[in-house]
Amino acid sequence: MDNSNDVDVLIVGAGFAGLYQLTKARKLGLSARVIERGSGVGGTWYWNRYPGARCDTPSIFYSASYLPDLDQEWKWPEIYPRQPKILEYLEHIAERENLYPQITFNTSVVAAEWDDDSGRWTVRTDSGERIVARYVVMATGTLTAAKTPEVPGLDTFEGRWFHTGRWPHEEVDFRGRRVAIIGTGSTAVQAIPVVADAAESLTVVQRTPKFVVPAANRPLTAEEWLTTRVNYPLLRAKARYADFGTPLDSPEVELDKISEEERTAILEEHWQAGTFILFVTSYRSNSGIMNPAVNDILAEFARAKIREIVKDSRTAETLTPHGYPIGVNRLCIGTNFYETFNRDNVSLVDAREEPIVGITPEGFQTSRGHYAVDDLIFATGYDAMTGALTSIDITGRSGLLRETWSEGPSTYLGVLVSGYPNLFLVTGPGGPSVLSNAVVTGEQSVDFISTLIRHAELSGHQVVEADSTAEKSWMEHVAEVAQRSLYREAWKANAWYTGRNVPGKKVVFMPYAGGVGTYEQIWREVVADDFRGFSFASAAPGLQG
Ligand code: NAP
Repeated sequence: MDNSNDVDVLIVGAGFAGLYQLTKARKLGLSARVIERGSGVGGTWYWNRYPGARCDTPSIFYSASYLPDLDQEWKWPEIYPRQPKILEYLEHIAERENLYPQITFNTSVVAAEWDDDSGRWTVRTDSGERIVARYVVMATGTLTAAKTPEVPGLDTFEGRWFHTGRWPHEEVDFRGRRVAIIGTGSTAVQAIPVVADAAESLTVVQRTPKFVVPAANRPLTAEEWLTTRVNYPLLRAKARYADFGTPLDSPEVELDKISEEERTAILEEHWQAGTFILFVTSYRSNSGIMNPAVNDILAEFARAKIREIVKDSRTAETLTPHGYPIGVNRLCIGTNFYETFNRDNVSLVDAREEPIVGITPEGFQTSRGHYAVDDLIFATGYDAMTGALTSIDITGRSGLLRETWSEGPSTYLGVLVSGYPNLFLVTGPGGPSVLSNAVVTGEQSVDFISTLIRHAELSGHQVVEADSTAEKSWMEHVAEVAQRSLYREAWKANAWYTGRNVPGKKVVFMPYAGGVGTYEQIWREVVADDFRGFSFASAAPGLQG
């Protein structure tokens, strides 16, 4: 067990990216430690054990690309495997790479303070430990800071309540119980059909209706496995240069230039096959996010599907999204989601018509009435992208990070913040981050960060910082790219990409929407151009090495 309190690299978080960062630090010959809040590895896949939890990016691509031998050995049972299988995969990596001795579990980082003289961060944990590190890598995840609705009374509730992102490790039995699920984002879309199957009754509380497209999940065939394994190196490379980090071929059709009959046939085929999402996300070649006319066609097709599937016309109308383009908040991928609203034991509450105003001992109160339930499930999302960082007292040369970011987050290329030397962000705001297969953008961040650390080490200037002018012009570019696309309307959907789901949070489109591949090119060019926009300096004399 390595629990030295003086290390080269301190990594916060033992999810996909944190584990990869540890292997990279080792390869650089640096001492490293990981601090992890959970009692095991896995990050998102450790915490999210809610009913129906599974990946909604194909796992043959949502997996570690830096372990080519494992690619040949591991077998994913389905296109979108369940949470236990993904957690098993991450535990296997930690075991196989012998990472456990360098990870401290059940421990949260509560503060980090930079010292200019020594060129080191002092990190404090909730167990009272003080760790001094030259480099700190925040692999804290983008969907970590779980939030419940800002209404009073939860402490008075006499039933059981759960947040999907903090689910108990033991199975929760809903048989014979009246359950309510608050929220209809990607998480709820997975949980609702499964809970409806078990519970006596299920009340779903929806605020902003989402577009939900079919997953068409199924086992992978032997032939698919063979082709994937043979082509894995190529597929992994393609993923890095695909707009959304998943190398799927974009449909080559201009939807607004063909007859209605033709396009309905094409869209129907993709809807059934689970590839409808390709039209929305292939925004460069196929303009789902760039061209309002194409977006309207896709949105209208999806709306018609809701009307077709949901039998009660009022429920169908409540579930139908209007007023924002499809794809500007996270597209939900579901199995029997809309069909579940045809069940006798499922009902829908429209929180736009009747917002929840409080939790009571017996259930919840809306502006219109009281709903008695035994169990409350909050699928109410996260203070995304920044919450895990701003909840820690991070003090750099420019003061507290949460104050520096009070007008919205700012980074240079998503990895460093000016005034916070040697504090690296994995999938930070200003990078492609969440507009992607998260494993790919996580690895991309770690590769970039490790390149910066390596250069700092080799040059003997062990303090690396983002120039404030480079950061400012990068953030202007990030805003401009979002503005050019339909993401400029994401706030209308209350999308967490913009922070609008968190009361009081500055509304700004946080990720870089230029595509994963474009970003890969940019950071590699920056490195080749003598690390343009970064400065490398030495710590106080006598403390290096
Ligand atoms: P989310 O998308 O933020 O959804 C939260 C839901 O709770 C929204 O419908 C929100 O409504 C609702 N809500 C919040 N406060 C409410 C209130 N006071 N009253 C009524 N409704 C309220 O969170 P999530 O579903 O956990 O998903 C977050 C992200 O995690 C996803 O977008 C996705 O990126 C990721 N995810 C991935 C997978 C995967 O398989 N890879 C699975 C699940 C989730 P508003 O929309 O009006 O705010």
